[in-house]
Amino acid sequence: MHWKGRAPAMGVYIGLDIGGTKLMVAAADREGRILHRSRADTAAGLQDGLDQLERMTTETAAGEAILGMGAAVGGPLDWESGVVSPLHQAAWREVPLKAIMEERWNCPFWVDVDTNIAALGEYRYGKTAARRFLYLTISTGMGGGLLIDGKIYRGAGGVHPEVAHQSIPFRCAYPSRVVCECGAPDCLEGLVSGNAIRRIYARPAEKLDPDEWSEVAYNLGQGLRNLAAILAPEVICLGGGVALGGGPEFIRQARQVMQDHLKLVPVPEVHLSQLGSDTALLGAVAAAIHGLDQ
Ligand SMILES: [Zn+2]
Repeated sequence: MHWKGRAPAMGVYIGLDIGGTKLMVAAADREGRILHRSRADTAAGLQDGLDQLERMTTETAAGEAILGMGAAVGGPLDWESGVVSPLHQAAWREVPLKAIMEERWNCPFWVDVDTNIAALGEYRYGKTAARRFLYLTISTGMGGGLLIDGKIYRGAGGVHPEVAHQSIPFRCAYPSRVVCECGAPDCLEGLVSGNAIRRIYARPAEKLDPDEWSEVAYNLGQGLRNLAAILAPEVICLGGGVALGGGPEFIRQARQVMQDHLKLVPVPEVHLSQLGSDTALLGAVAAAIHGLDQ
């Protein structure tokens, strides 16, 4: 093989961000620096999806040995067995992804819920040093990941806590349109997620006017207040299309509502994701390098 003057990297780590609509793959070195990356629309069928993973992994590894792999996938899933059934990929049900990938690539494979993996990415590569770090993503839906000393907090039996399915006192110009996809009537997700915004305001988040953004920020602020009161984290970091689209003014308003209603515990730092749409991809790289069971 001709190396074009470049020394071989002595193996790479592969991160996979397997979303309902897009698939991103990155090959990185031991320090998490991305060497190659690729992106495609997610295939609809299961076998097509697995073939696509195989092809894109081969491409991005570019002939290097693969030392470890990490993946962000929509829940529900069992992170220990690596069996996944992502809600927004109808053809993927009870797929033993860890077993399939470890057999194929002969290296450790780690998989977890996309919001947990995104939290790892932001913590490792977003330069946030906080012992109790809460990452929230607001995109089509809403979810989060809580890290304590860099380790993912898990609920009873390994279950993923659903921080967006909490009840809040809300403000809404169209209260009859407030429903949550989980079935509960008054969830935070049912007010601030991309799908909720479309349902309530009859247009996407990027088309909201400032008063409507303020209403969404108020509701998010109430959710942040509950999370801050219960978890008392040092930092809450927000990512995902809705949060990034709302930008610093949206976050400032939400933070103010949180602060106005938060008593007895310190007000956490609240900021936007530093990594944009690469949060889960970089988290998957971190999982590939460091594993998830530390
Ligand atoms: Zn809900």
